[in-house]
Amino acid sequence: MRADPIQRAIDEDLVRVLYAQDPIAFFSHWFSIAVLVAIYWPNIPSPHLFIACFGFYAAANCGSLALWICNRRYPQLVSPRGWIYLHALRGVLLYSAPGLAVWFAFQSPHSDLPLLHTVLLVTLAAGVFMSNGFDLLNFSTAIPFLLFPSIVLHFGTHTFDRTILAVVLAFFFCAINVYALSYRKLFQRVVQARVDQQYLAESLAAQKRVAEEASLAKTRFFAAASHDLRQPLHAIGLLAASLNDPATTASQHAKTAEHIVYNVEALNQLFNQVLDLARLESGVTQVIRLHFRLSELFERIGSQYRPQAAAKGLALRIAPTSVVVHDDPVLLERVLSNLVSNAVRYTEDGAIWLGFRRSGRLSGGFVEVRDSGIGIPGAEQQRIFEEFYQVANPQRDARQGHGLGLPTVKRLVTMLGGELSLRSAPGRGSVFRFPVQEGDASGIVTSLSESVTSGPSAQGQRVLCIDDEPSILEGLASLLGRWGCEVRGARDEGGALAVLQSGFVPDAVLCDYQLANHRTGAQALTAVRNMLARAGHEGVVTLLITGDMASTELAALALQGIPVLHKPVTPARLRRTLDMLWQQAELDKGRAVVGREGREGLAGGGRRAEPGDTSHDAAGEPQSESQN
Ligand code: ADP
Repeated sequence: MRADPIQRAIDEDLVRVLYAQDPIAFFSHWFSIAVLVAIYWPNIPSPHLFIACFGFYAAANCGSLALWICNRRYPQLVSPRGWIYLHALRGVLLYSAPGLAVWFAFQSPHSDLPLLHTVLLVTLAAGVFMSNGFDLLNFSTAIPFLLFPSIVLHFGTHTFDRTILAVVLAFFFCAINVYALSYRKLFQRVVQARVDQQYLAESLAAQKRVAEEASLAKTRFFAAASHDLRQPLHAIGLLAASLNDPATTASQHAKTAEHIVYNVEALNQLFNQVLDLARLESGVTQVIRLHFRLSELFERIGSQYRPQAAAKGLALRIAPTSVVVHDDPVLLERVLSNLVSNAVRYTEDGAIWLGFRRSGRLSGGFVEVRDSGIGIPGAEQQRIFEEFYQVANPQRDARQGHGLGLPTVKRLVTMLGGELSLRSAPGRGSVFRFPVQEGDASGIVTSLSESVTSGPSAQGQRVLCIDDEPSILEGLASLLGRWGCEVRGARDEGGALAVLQSGFVPDAVLCDYQLANHRTGAQALTAVRNMLARAGHEGVVTLLITGDMASTELAALALQGIPVLHKPVTPARLRRTLDMLWQQAELDKGRAVVGREGREGLAGGGRRAEPGDTSHDAAGEPQSESQN
């Protein structure tokens, strides 16, 4: 049997067509009863049996009409399949009487009675083919009753012409079965096409609804974003104009400048939050899972938010845990920062708890951020995950946030493969929780509390920079030079290959994404990598830098694990990323050696290489990060 919805649709159509013919069949059977009684009338054989047989036939015909009425009046009484079974049962009862009654003809001295009766049976069989042929059950429960007794009895006469008649009847039986088979297939194809069309129409309608909702959400997003971006801009404009007023004193100037700086910072923060969200949406953010101690991440969050909590008289409590998790520490830190800063913001007294809970079913457990704050009403618990939605900030005061934290958190948790859940009641605080995967202590490569710059130093590293903008090349060369790197610059792919041909073997290649002549950084990096690989230099660190956010190619690069940094790139981010990439490359080299030795049976104990570990989350760092 087929998948449920299609089979059900076929059944419903079958019920409709099977029962549609029944009133006509009712009159045809009365006609058949009348004809049979008329031909037997002058000399009815075995009268009692005859009356019983034809009484049964008439009753079955009335029962058939009653079934039709029931189906019309109470279609929900049984399932479509149930109606089909009932119709087949009606067929058995209705067609067995005329089929078996042919026996009376063979009891009669009139030799033409069997022929007359057989002609009537063939007519009834043709009717069954037309009205029930598209359902195997209804067809196969009626036709044998109509034709088999006749075939057998004609054969039993052992006369030549009756034997021929029996053969013809048998042939007729086979032929209508074959025709019924193609009839059924045709019927199923028609129903299938109708159902497919209906599904298509429904799914198109659903897609249209989704597209309309998305467009509405986008409109709301832009309306709120432009409002929130305009506010500080407007304030900056007014404040800047007041600076030109000759009547203002020096102290007023200083105050105005302070306000301008405050508004610029607010603008910058909002801009970065919007960019963060856009980057998550565009799918270029990479998830890099590492094994690390959750307590170290909790401590980082604790040291960041304890002063804010203490300033409000709140306690920030961190439950001790020794669990090692396998997750992306950078993304997880962004999730926790948002949740804990909200908890501090929306709690006036009491405490905030940050902790890990084991789960019975999952390997791992849940991270929970709990507060004793104002809580969130049930009706708002869905909406707070919409962009720019805030429960109680109708004036859209920028100091009370912008409503972008939770949408970002929700997307991040989904990216990490979990689901964010919320329990909250007004006045009774809130609990946000999400799952984390359990890790392996032997897989820990670096402590989160260690500074990344304690990895391989930039001093003496050779870096090849590719950018079609000379001022950027100059800036990069001077910055990397200050870090002690040996730098070569190239304006395009050809220039980069020429640098390699001159014998320069880089430890890292930094490349802009959009190059001149419609070439991309990805193409340039591939060419550089290939040339280095041919010369036997595998595993050189490569890094793309781009201002592009929505390119599908960038999303594909992110999926392949090619590190991407988004402009504007601060020196601190570039340094941190390069250090981490070099550190990762060192580890990979070490692992390759251990792997080789392991294969040769000399040593074991190296960390298992895992898919996410070989790439680095350059793009996973928050846009808003200003130092590190
Ligand atoms: P923001 O905090 O910047 O306004 P969020 O997206 O982080 O934006 O939160 C959206 C809204 O959800 C907030 O305006 C606030 O009303 C509500 N909210 C978030 N976290 C909490 C919390 N811990 N307690 C009470 N309300 C909260």
